[in-house]
Formats: sequence, structure tokens, C-alpha cells
Amino acid sequence: MIKNNIIKALASVLFVLFTVLPAGADDTKNTETQKKYTGKVPKNIIIMFTDGTGTALLETARLYMQHVHEEKFFLTDTLLNKASMGLMSTYSASSLVTDSAAAGTAMATGYKSYNGSINVNVQQEPVVSVAELVKEKGGKVAVVSNANITDASPAAFGGAHNANRRNYDDIASQFLQGNIDIIMGGGRKYFRSERRKDKRDLVAEFTKAGYGFVEDSQQLAAAEGKKLLALFAEKDMSFITERHEEKEPSLVTMIQTTLKLLSKDNEKGFLAFIENEHTDSASHRSDMTNAIKHLIEFDQALQVAYQFYRNHADDTLLIVASDHETGGVNITVSTKDMTSNKSKNRIFPSLKHLKIIADISISTRAAAKKLGKSPTDAQIDKLISTYYQGFVLDQDLRNKLKNNEFVSRTNFYGRTESVLGEMIGRNTGFFFSATHHTNEPVIVAAIGPGAVLFNGYFDNTDFGKRLIGLIEGK
Ligand SMILES: [Zn+2]
Repeated sequence: MIKNNIIKALASVLFVLFTVLPAGADDTKNTETQKKYTGKVPKNIIIMFTDGTGTALLETARLYMQHVHEEKFFLTDTLLNKASMGLMSTYSASSLVTDSAAAGTAMATGYKSYNGSINVNVQQEPVVSVAELVKEKGGKVAVVSNANITDASPAAFGGAHNANRRNYDDIASQFLQGNIDIIMGGGRKYFRSERRKDKRDLVAEFTKAGYGFVEDSQQLAAAEGKKLLALFAEKDMSFITERHEEKEPSLVTMIQTTLKLLSKDNEKGFLAFIENEHTDSASHRSDMTNAIKHLIEFDQALQVAYQFYRNHADDTLLIVASDHETGGVNITVSTKDMTSNKSKNRIFPSLKHLKIIADISISTRAAAKKLGKSPTDAQIDKLISTYYQGFVLDQDLRNKLKNNEFVSRTNFYGRTESVLGEMIGRNTGFFFSATHHTNEPVIVAAIGPGAVLFNGYFDNTDFGKRLIGLIEGK
């Protein structure tokens, strides 16, 4: 009954979308004819995926890299000057604001589906994804993420099918069923018999099927087989501000090991999906520091991928993509308080403010945990003086912390996190205008055989269709 209602609701939303949006079969056909590709089929495809990354955050990370680290940001300062570049529309079948599941489905299958869908169409029927096509041709598939590995994006690119992205237990077992070669990230609980509803011991099943199993950085460094299950955390892996690298490797270490293992006996090629989820997770939690730091780590991982591309340039396609923007990153001029709107009472964001953001040594999530739901003034003051030195906490925000209230109708995800994020914004000019995703188009960059297909302005379903066309050699 509930399911019927959901489908009915979905159908009406779809009707509205297809009535108001001109994008449909005809448009897609046009772009496809323009994008007929007759060149070489890439043997290896590396997708460097940074979840929840829009252009405002890219520019922020670029400036942070230049002025805090005094180095170049590789993606914008080097790669985008050589690569094909596209701007991708991200809306889903159920909303103009997609989630990672519908976006992943569009990009991995070419089908527009509803928020929450993993490689199923709007009728909830499974549709074929890139991972399955690569496996059918005898190639290898790796899914790597600093999120829980059964999360929406790796699930979609790892060939899972599910009507609901939250069925993590099913998605974990589908990686085994799909014979995915490397599975690396967080999400150990969905593989363990004591935490799974069906009590299956998936770690034992993977091991029996010939996979190596590792749980920390040291074990990862020693991993040698062609098939690997690597699970470093029960759920998501830690943010940089709280990470212990001997337990949880960085994305750079993860991609190095993945490419090393995929290179063994690589006659048929591979699809490697490497995800930085934490730009999205941090942006949901109004955490500018970690959003930037994880994007910089992604940029370093991208350089490892680029080096592989350089060594195999005639048969490797390297794609950089995001699935949507998160947080409505909003770097803007604000007033210091509400007493005056005159220019002397304004904050103009500057490099000094970027350096202040760099010095924050705690995630908003960990800070929220420290404060709890009803912190005292003394607890709040201690947190600010320890981790947010020099920050001013306005009285209205202090009251929200003490009463466990969120900031606004668009800034609500974690109550305490949203307030701390607002404090960071008011002190620096680096705001999140939302705690959810936005409809901002995202950048796609590609280099190598087939890269030309990712030029121009296109829909996320075109991304999927072009990728599938390349894998099928059409
Ligand atoms: Zn998200």
C-alpha cells in the first residue's frame, strides 16, 4: 500500500518534471549524434569522483592550496588546461535536487531515476550498469571510497541494484555476487555476521572466494592478491581532523594500492571508481575545514591517477567528476553584526580568513559530539578557546547551541554542526547557505581516449550513456 502511494507520488512528480523540463528523448538524441565517437576504445577507465563538489568549493580549495600551502591545485591549475571539460546537469526524476543515489544511477547506467534508487529505473526494475559491462568483457572493477563502501555512489558504480539506497546489507552482498575485484573503504558492519540481519559472514564468504581481507593501513601496504576486500571503519571513514593514518589510510594511499593491484595481469583492462565522499559529508555538516582539506587530498589522489594515465596514455581514460553540489557554498561579503550595513561594518573574505579556516583542528561533527545537546556556557567557551581560537560566537548562536536549535530552514542537518558552521561563516565570510544538495551543475573533466565525449553541457544521463558506449565500443 505504502509502496503504491510512493509510486503514485513519484509518477506525479515525474509528470511535473517532464512537463516543465524540455530535456527528454529528443534533446538526448541530438547530443548523441553530435557526440559520435569513432576513436579508440579505452582499455582502462579511472573515474575520480568527488561527491558534493561545486565550483565555489573548487575555487576555495585552489586558493587555499596557493595561499596556505603555496602550491598549485592540480585539477584546476594543470589538468583542466589539458583535458576536455564539460558542465553536467544533475536533477533526478523525483526532484530538481538529486541525491547521490539517483545521480550515481544516471552516471553509471544512463537512466534518470528517483532519489534513493541504485541502478533501477523509475519502475524499480534493474538496469544494466558500467560495472557489469566491464565484468562481462572480462575486465576488472574496483570501488574505493572514504565513505561506507555500500554508500550510494560506490554502490552504483560497483554494479549493485536496489530500489532503496539504505539496504546496505544487500548492497554489500551484491559486490560479492558481481565479482567486483577490489572493494575498499568504510562500512565493515554491513559485512559482519553479528551486524547483518541475515547473519551471513560476508568477510568469510569473500575470503573463501579468493579475496584478501585487510582492516588497517599496515595490512593494506602488504596486500598482494588481485582481489581485495579492505574495510577500515565500521561506517564512514574519519575526517582528516580526526584521522589516525596508521588505522585509516588516506585516499592517496588507497588509490596507490588499488592501481598497483589492478595492474597485475591486466590484459582486459579495468574500471576504477575512486571516490572522495568527504567533501559531501563535511559540507552536509557545515564543516568548511574538512570540505576543503578532503578536496585537497582528492587533488593529490588525482595526481596519482594522472601519473598512471601518463604511463598508459594511449589506452587509459581518466575522468574527474562530481555528482552534485552540496551545501550551497557561499563565499560572500557579510556584516560583522546587525547594527549597521555600512561598509566599515562588513567582512570582506580574504586570505587571512582562509588561514583561520586552515587552523581549525576539529570537525564540526566531533565538536558537536563534545558539546552534546544541552551544553553549558562553560563547555561552549572551552570548545571555542581550544579549537576555534579568536572566533566570536554571537549570542543568538550561543542560545541555539544551548537549546539544540538549528540555524534556519535551509541549514538544519546537524543542529549543533549547522550553528558552528554559521559561526565559521560569520567570522570569515565562508558560509554554507544550505546543509543539503543544490541543483548547481558540476564540472566533468576527461583526458585520454574518448575524453572528447565529455565536452560541452550535458545531462548526467548522457554521462552514463557515453561511458557505456565507450565500454561497449560503440
Ligand atoms: Zn550528500
